[in-house]
This record gives sequence, C-alpha cells and structure tokens, in this order.
Amino acid sequence: MTLKVNDFEIIYSRLSKHLRNGNEYLEHYLETPIKDYSLIKIILGKGNRHKALISAGIHGDEPCGVEAICSFLENNRFESFSDTWELSLLPCLNPYGYEFGLRENHNGKDLNRLFRHSAPPEEVEFAQSNFDKNYELTIELHEDSMTPGYYLYQKGTHPEDEIVGDEILKAIKNIMPINLNDEIDGCSAQGGIIIQQRNWSAMDWWPMAIYALSKGTRRTLTLETATQFAMQTRVEAHLKAIDTALSFYTEKFKN
Ligand SMILES: [Zn+2]
Repeated sequence: MTLKVNDFEIIYSRLSKHLRNGNEYLEHYLETPIKDYSLIKIILGKGNRHKALISAGIHGDEPCGVEAICSFLENNRFESFSDTWELSLLPCLNPYGYEFGLRENHNGKDLNRLFRHSAPPEEVEFAQSNFDKNYELTIELHEDSMTPGYYLYQKGTHPEDEIVGDEILKAIKNIMPINLNDEIDGCSAQGGIIIQQRNWSAMDWWPMAIYALSKGTRRTLTLETATQFAMQTRVEAHLKAIDTALSFYTEKFKN
C-alpha cells in the first residue's frame, strides 16, 4: 500500500493565502482514483514586459521545489521584480506524486518524459497550455537524492546567456556545495553544469525544458538541489537561483 508522505491540502491552503493583490489564479481540476486535486497556476505582475515561468513538483518525490515556490510567495521574493516581470508559477505539477512521495503520477507515468507524446497525461497538457506566450526564461525546480551538491542543466537560443548558469552556481556555493564531478546523472558536466550534446529535435521523448525551447523560450534552466541537505537549505538554494536568474536578465534587458 502506498503511504501518504505529504499533505497537498497544506500546500493548497498556503498558496491560496497569496492570491490577493489582483494576481491571476487558475485551477485545473485533476481527477485520480484516490482523490481529486487542483493543478494550480499563479501569475504575478500580469502584463509586464518580460515573461518567465517557474514550475515545480513534476516529480512528486522532489518536494523542495514546491516548498520553494510557497516560500517565494510567502516572503515576497517577487517584490524587486514586480515592475518588469510577468511571472507564471506552476507550484505543483504532480500533486498525487507529491502526496505519496512518488516520482510518477497516479498512472505510473514520469511526466517529465512525455512532453513530445501525442496524447500526454493531463498534468503535461496543463503545463503545455502555458506556452501560449514566449518566455525569456523558464525555470524548473528539481532535486536529486544521489548528488553531493547543487547542479543544473541549461539550454537556450542565445549562447551569450550561458554565463547565467555560472552566476547561479557562484551565488549558491555559500548556501550549498556545488557538484563539481565530471559526470553527473550519467552526463558529462563541468563546474556543476551539465554538458548536453543531444540533438533534441531527434529525440523521441522530451522533458518540459525541451518543450519550452521548441515554443521559443530564450533560456531554460533545470535546477537540481541535493536532497541530502535540510529542506530549508534546499529551499534557500533554489530561491537564490531564481533571484540570480531574474536579476541577470533584468540587468541584461536594461541595455
Ligand atoms: Zn526531478
């Protein structure tokens, strides 16, 4: 029998408290055999010129990203970006997996492998429905139970933006060590950044990040914190990464 390890209702009520100030809020009803959930989207700074999307919880056994988005809202981390950024938040893309501590959804599907599928699960369709606009930046919050430190994947249309990955890790290294191994999760890596040589148009499956690229996202960041550290440390690392990435582009777009 699968045991409940987290309570999605707590997340739901924490998020609900932060929907004032005219923030747009959207819920998609998700039915599962155990119970029904809401897939939630919150838009901050609606109509602002620059667009970013931050998502979490697509892998249900990685609760830190969900926690980071709650904390981002609760601690007004958007404040310094509220004049320039329209931020779409998808706080928990796999609420069933979140409650039961499972990577997959209620049908045993790894949602982050199904973004090129012709008939994807509802959670994936919900995530895809947000790409009706062009984002400068998409950030996906993950965690890894095997890694000794923080690392990230990045891809984008502007090679000169690659420095944002280094900036993030430089900012994080005082919070959590960086995984400096030459190989991480089966891929070559350098300085905590995965080196990706795969031709994504030839791949038969896509994660959300590649789907984002195919929809015109300028830079996509997949951020991996290390589960072996305390939740608060992992949350702080992700919040620092979000802050660094948004600040980087705020500065860049000034010129
Ligand atoms: Zn993950």
